[in-house]
This record gives sequence, C-alpha cells and structure tokens, in this order.
Amino acid sequence: MKCVLATGNANKVREMMPLFPENWELVSLRDIGFSGDLQEDHQLIEDNSLQKAMFIWKKYGLPCIAEDTGLFVEILNGEPGVHSAHYAGPSRSSTDNIALLLKKMQGKENRKAAFRTVMTFVDKGVAYQFEGSLQGAISNKPSGDGGFGYDPVFEIKDGVTLAMISSEEKQKISHRSQALNKLLAFIFDVNINRI
Ligand code: IMP
Repeated sequence: MKCVLATGNANKVREMMPLFPENWELVSLRDIGFSGDLQEDHQLIEDNSLQKAMFIWKKYGLPCIAEDTGLFVEILNGEPGVHSAHYAGPSRSSTDNIALLLKKMQGKENRKAAFRTVMTFVDKGVAYQFEGSLQGAISNKPSGDGGFGYDPVFEIKDGVTLAMISSEEKQKISHRSQALNKLLAFIFDVNINRI
C-alpha cells in the first residue's frame, strides 16, 4: 500500500520505511509533487496533525501519516505548546525560541514540562490518532550539542538534557517514537486481521 509520510524530508522516509510492513511503500511530499508547507492553523496539535493528513488524503486520494509536536511547560499554562516552532517569531529559530523560554522561566521553581506528539493516519477518509509523550524539566541553561529544537534545555533527568544523549537513545524514549510505535502496532494488527 502506498502511503504518504507528510514530510519533505527523504531521510525521514528512508528511516521509517523498514519499520512498516513489507507491502507498504512510504513516499514523501516531494515524491507526490507537493512543495511548500502544509497548513497548520489550529490551536491544538491534534487538530494540526489531522489537518495535514486530511489535506493530503483529499487532494491526492492517498493514505497519509502526519504529525504535530509541541513542548508543554506546566507553569506557563502549556506554552509554547502548539506554537513551539515559532514561539519567538516567524523565523522559527531554535536559539531564539530557547532564549525566550528561558527568560519566561527565570525565577520559576516548577520546571515540569512534556513533549507531546500526535500522529494521524488517514486511510479511506477515516482518521486514526496516536499520541506519545515524554516528561521532563526545563533546565536553567542550554547543555549538549545533539538533537534539535528545545533538546538542549529539556532535562530527562537531573543535569541530562535530550541534547546530551545519542540519537539512538533519544529514539528509544522520544514522544515521536512512542506515537509511531502505537501507529505501527495498529497497522500490523490491521494487516494481520486482513490475512
Ligand atoms: P514539529 O511539529 O515536529 O514540526 O515540531 C514543532 C516544534 O517543536 C519544532 O520546531 C521544535 O522546535 C519542537 N520540537 C519537536 N520535536 C522536538 C524534539 O524532539 N526535541 C526538541 N524540540 C522538538
């Protein structure tokens, strides 16, 4: 079955392809001739994830997997949340986003935060959603050279940020992997039932 992974990044497709059943062919947005950004203009990551997958299904008539992720900080009432990518402005700079977050967290004792990913799979116009989350805390300063986005200020345990662990280690525990594993379990189950 041909399924669009709603990303322009061919590496992501290559990385995820071996995890899917053999009769699945994952393709990128570029592969189907879509360029530009998918619209995501809702206030919930659930809705943005759904919006992206449904858009592709409606436009191309192909099953699609899309995701949306946010960082939710307890003391900031869930900020930056759905605005995580452009928290400090439209340039989507991770350095600026981190600087703004650390400024807002100055003097705050409660540092609890969580990453949440919602992955949507649309098949035959029906949507299925899978969530993954990772609990942690916002550090006082950035540490580590790995990862991306808010990884340098997201502590998974005292003094250890996501940017300090290997990508393999991150993959084992990440919000995105958890959502993906739930989706894969669903897909394999459906496949087995069909046989
Ligand atoms: P997206 O929905 O995957 O594009 O994620 C939205 C934003 O959340 C990104 O631009 C990053 O700033 C942040 N983000 C998502 N996933 C991660 C992660 O695994 N580590 C750090 N930041 C992340």
